[in-house]
Amino acid sequence: MNKLSIGLLIFSGLLNTACVATPSSTEHNVTAQTRKTPKNIIFLIGDGMGLEHTTAYRYYSDDPATKAMETTIFDELLVGMASTYPDDDTVVTDSAASATALSSGVKSYNGAIGVDTHKEPLETVLEKAKKLGKQTAIVVTSQINHATPASFIAHNESRQNYDQIADNYLSNLIDGKPIVDLMFGGGTQYYIRDDRNLVNEFKDYGYQYTNSLQQLDKITALPALGLFAPVGLPFAIDSGDQPRRLTPMAKKALSLLSLKNDKGFFMMIEGSQIDWCAHANDVACAMGELDDFASTIEAVKAFAEKDGETLIVVTADHSTGGLSIGGYDKYIWKIDLIKQIHGSVETISKTMADSKDVVGTWNKYIDFPLTDEESKLLVTASQQKYSVLKQTLLDVINHRTLTGWTSHGHTAGDVQIFAYGVGADKFAGHLDNIDIAKNIFSFLNTKN
Ligand SMILES: [Zn+2]
Repeated sequence: MNKLSIGLLIFSGLLNTACVATPSSTEHNVTAQTRKTPKNIIFLIGDGMGLEHTTAYRYYSDDPATKAMETTIFDELLVGMASTYPDDDTVVTDSAASATALSSGVKSYNGAIGVDTHKEPLETVLEKAKKLGKQTAIVVTSQINHATPASFIAHNESRQNYDQIADNYLSNLIDGKPIVDLMFGGGTQYYIRDDRNLVNEFKDYGYQYTNSLQQLDKITALPALGLFAPVGLPFAIDSGDQPRRLTPMAKKALSLLSLKNDKGFFMMIEGSQIDWCAHANDVACAMGELDDFASTIEAVKAFAEKDGETLIVVTADHSTGGLSIGGYDKYIWKIDLIKQIHGSVETISKTMADSKDVVGTWNKYIDFPLTDEESKLLVTASQQKYSVLKQTLLDVINHRTLTGWTSHGHTAGDVQIFAYGVGADKFAGHLDNIDIAKNIFSFLNTKN
């Protein structure tokens, strides 16, 4: 033990003595240095973000002008690894089962939203935080009723029941009120429907509402709801000169949560579309999402650094796509080419199909030219159905950049755990995904 730790121990001993004398002021006596239980908890989930994804992001974000390989926020905060298998015989989890494990500390079946294998509701860390009087928030780039956020807020036997899950955000009440004070993401299609306008119902509960990311400033207090797209937000790589959208949403959420924060808050932030790009085997798309997620982690870390009373935990629900950094038996990965791609494969292939101009579209979105062989392949594919064109474009990009993928689905490799701040040491080493939730619950069972 070093001198500093001994000093802190003596100091905390003195503090405990002081607390015995004046028990009513315990909360105020717990300083940032001695706090063992975080006041604020920020739980970030990179959906589909495996080990290979964060490693790829290190190479992608490296500054080629320097000789050294710069580390990322992921490298800086790495503390452990987690297994992700669900409670069935598949080994490979989906986002619902994994998010339920991460929200409740109980493993369930693929598709389960906050329910156990008997389809009974499980208490989530967000619900527990709300019961303690903490403020609660979710910030995502998917629709807000997608599997990951839904598993913290709702209880349903199937992630596919989107309307029922959306309704549940208004029927799962604590003290007669909805349990989430701030929700930013997509999903107007589910919240403003012919049969029901849930946005108006939230407004009746006093929620401020906006549907424009550019008008986030118009939200001045909690509770608040922001729905910025019919379903998920556009991919970062398709968002023009504002590719980061999770970052500004998270920053705005932090400023709103800080306005009146006597009991602390619990916030879940999801980089939802790392998974979607990986399902599509679209490497440039995935790098765009990772960049937004990494910058969000940097923003919340800056908050926690200043605040001194916050825990940040970051993990993934599973890995997606079976990404390989380097593929096809070649010992190289062409990062420089990936950086020259300025649209998702979905956007580029749709534009190719609509315009019937394969080469012109390629040159519009991608800064390196097609080879003659590649143009022939794409022109032939463009005369067939759309799915053939899209797959051919993926094949061209992945072969050219030497990016390997083994699946359009999830894989069962362990995922990383990153942590910072008060209580971060509890997340070190190998954990199972349910242990992450159990650790968070342990912080929600003690007073300070
Ligand atoms: Zn997925």
